[in-house]
Amino acid sequence: MAKVYDVVIVGGGPGGIACAYLCHKRGLSYLLIEQGKSVFQGITNTYPEGKNVYPSKPKEAGEPFLVEELRPPDKPVTVEKYIQYVQHFVQHENLAVRTEVQFEDLQERRDHLVVQTAQGDFAARKVVLAFGSSIPRELSVYGDAKMVAKTLDDPKKYLGARTLVIGGGNTAADVIISILRAKREANDDQSVYWAHVAEKFDVNKETAQRLGEEILLGGNIRLLPGAIPRIGEVDEEGVDRLVIRINDFRQPDGIEIYHAMSFPMKNVIACIGSQGPLPIFDKIGVQTITCAEGVCTVAKEGDRLILLTSEYESTRKGVYVIGGAISPSYMKISGGSIQEEKHPNLIYTAVNDAFHVVEAIRRKLG
Ligand SMILES: Cc1cc2nc3c(=O)[nH]c(=O)nc-3n(C[C@H](O)[C@H](O)[C@H](O)COP(=O)(O)OP(=O)(O)OC[C@H]3O[C@@H](n4cnc5c(N)ncnc54)[C@H](O)[C@@H]3O)c2cc1C
Repeated sequence: MAKVYDVVIVGGGPGGIACAYLCHKRGLSYLLIEQGKSVFQGITNTYPEGKNVYPSKPKEAGEPFLVEELRPPDKPVTVEKYIQYVQHFVQHENLAVRTEVQFEDLQERRDHLVVQTAQGDFAARKVVLAFGSSIPRELSVYGDAKMVAKTLDDPKKYLGARTLVIGGGNTAADVIISILRAKREANDDQSVYWAHVAEKFDVNKETAQRLGEEILLGGNIRLLPGAIPRIGEVDEEGVDRLVIRINDFRQPDGIEIYHAMSFPMKNVIACIGSQGPLPIFDKIGVQTITCAEGVCTVAKEGDRLILLTSEYESTRKGVYVIGGAISPSYMKISGGSIQEEKHPNLIYTAVNDAFHVVEAIRRKLG
């Protein structure tokens, strides 16, 4: 039979890493899975370059940072330095982390849970979901588009290839700037195509200025406004491709004439924004509650909040949810009542949640 871990942790951000470190210290068997190339991928993807990281604490919080080792220093450091420190820490402590493993679903067996991923299943007595608040949106096309990247990990990967970036905002523009820069430095004149479903691209002044500079320096960019990703398919050579319709014309006789382009999926990056974790909560069947008028103060009327015990256990027994995934508020079951609980999205909160959850799991597993 496959190994049954005491705990499988999903997500290698501050919450997940704190959880893994505490399991390690307390002698629980555990595995952390992270979908990105390395730990803190969520932070790598969402912080602007050079941003300082602060050890912020909510005003009303009574507790100190409960895992001092992950506390950002008082004298703020750049995000790059903080990530580097955490990566060394993970290595030094020899934490059991598997990267490039994406959580997909959760199944129940008689006496344990099974975490399903595209890279295989992992059995665990308890599962901690620490996947943060920003889950990249999937491209909705006919067929499969799983091979399309959602972030840029290495611009040099796109050298020598015509590349398609999908999305109309600052993130897409930043990805394009990085690829154009890499291509310029390598004297690669292959185009970068920038596609967006709307007719207008919407970037801020500073990003537009940086993009303009890259174009002036010779950046070869082709704009595809009003372009719609349509089909994911495998061609006759076995290459996964994405077909994107760049314009269409409907004739009165019902016939449609359209132009489309087809790119190998490995040359496509979709920067189409992120969504909250609700679709995942629905998929795995944890209960949420809709805020009725006058019930919630942080969430708006109609928002759905996850229901958790004071130990962060969801309505699926043995499944805990912590950190950004339950921010900015959740519904707390306590003393027979249910109330909205504020939960600021901070490193402090994620790390301290991990501490409380590992303590609760330790008590339960005896
Ligand atoms: C621009 C910016 C600046 C900020 N500055 C500060 C600051 O200075 N101080 C501060 O305290 N807080 C700051 N925050 C907030 C802080 O970064 C978050 O509160 C914190 O990262 C939440 O930690 P987490 O572990 O819950 O989630 P995350 O850090 O989001 O980590 C979740 C991890 O899970 C992975 N994941 C997601 N889905 C899956 C899946 N299906 N399978 C496997 N892995 C998955 C992600 O790749 C990610 O690495 C900032 C946030 C932003 C956006």
